[in-house]
Amino acid sequence: MIQLHDKYFKRFLSEKEILLAVQRVADQVAADYKDKTPIFVGVLNGSFMFVSDFLKAYPHPCEVSFVKLSSYQGLTSTGIVETLLDLPDNIEGRSVIILEDIIDTGRTLKELVHLFSNTNVKEFKIASLFYKAEVYNGEYAIDYFGLEIPDRFIVGYGLDYKELGRNFREVYQLNQKHMINLVLFGKPGAGKGTQAQFLKEQYNLQHISTGDVFRYNIKNGTDLGTLAKSYIDKGDLVPDEVTIKMLEDEVAKNQEADGFIFDGFPRTVAQAEALDNFLESKDMKINATIALEANDEVLIQRLLERGKVSGRTDDQDKDKIRNRFDEYNSKTAPLKTYYEEQGKFHSVNGIGTIAEITERLTKVIEGL
Ligand code: 5GP
Repeated sequence: MIQLHDKYFKRFLSEKEILLAVQRVADQVAADYKDKTPIFVGVLNGSFMFVSDFLKAYPHPCEVSFVKLSSYQGLTSTGIVETLLDLPDNIEGRSVIILEDIIDTGRTLKELVHLFSNTNVKEFKIASLFYKAEVYNGEYAIDYFGLEIPDRFIVGYGLDYKELGRNFREVYQLNQKHMINLVLFGKPGAGKGTQAQFLKEQYNLQHISTGDVFRYNIKNGTDLGTLAKSYIDKGDLVPDEVTIKMLEDEVAKNQEADGFIFDGFPRTVAQAEALDNFLESKDMKINATIALEANDEVLIQRLLERGKVSGRTDDQDKDKIRNRFDEYNSKTAPLKTYYEEQGKFHSVNGIGTIAEITERLTKVIEGL
């Protein structure tokens, strides 16, 4: 596994596999162009290594030139293709073969075809080392390609992620981790903390309890903590943007986790939407929301017991407890609908021994 900027990549093709693919393209082109002295036009930057190895593998007379276009920024095609280095001027009446490193959506290719449509070349063919057939728009025939690859972001052998990775002899693919991101719901006393602890260890998840995160940031006087405190001190609710920002920091700090347990957030549909938007921007999503359900009377008994030990006053008064339940009921109900509509809502019976409840949770997660 290698790291480039913020992303991890794993080995995908060996140097040998790549060179075999290059050889395949060269052999196909050579069979068609033996006596035609074609001009190979490499598309910069990504194709420089391919062009080099291709020419070494091409056994007949030929010329070489380059154009430079740009469409990718980071991981996704921007759709804007710019010409940075124009066509050579000796191509009239010649056989031109474009050498592309990779064909993805086909946007770059469209621009290339457009570039050549204003010239008097004798013929114009396209050869690409890699070809993502699944996502290619199919507008033009790909005359020659070395290897069809799945729709994954790759680096190495000339291809970059934000300019890094071009120098690798092998090709690496983006390591898309299979994350488990959960939202845990449950009334006070339902056992969220206990079960979160188990899930954390079992699945290498990071438990993000909004309450804890707030307390941590306020206690340590972070910028966000200070901001949050300014609202709390005025008796106002902390705006969702501030909370989301704190969650973002927690997610960024825990890149090695295999997922996150969100606890205490979201509490409203607006927050659930904000969470979805934030996760989407990180190529992540909520996989499941799990509600630990238990009968109010059982929970009251649990909380009263807990209150005796912990000294938490809000756990010692039945009315206060009922108020917290009411608040939970009124707030969580719309969220339940929100997640049900996405097919992500799971309800788990929270009555039983810790081990029994853990087993029920495990079943839900294994079924995802
Ligand atoms: P298209 O215009 O067909 O969507 O994309 C073509 C260009 O996007 C390529 O020439 C290359 O610069 C870039 N590209 C497409 N797929 C990948 C990929 O998986 N990795 C990298 N590093 N660049 C890619």
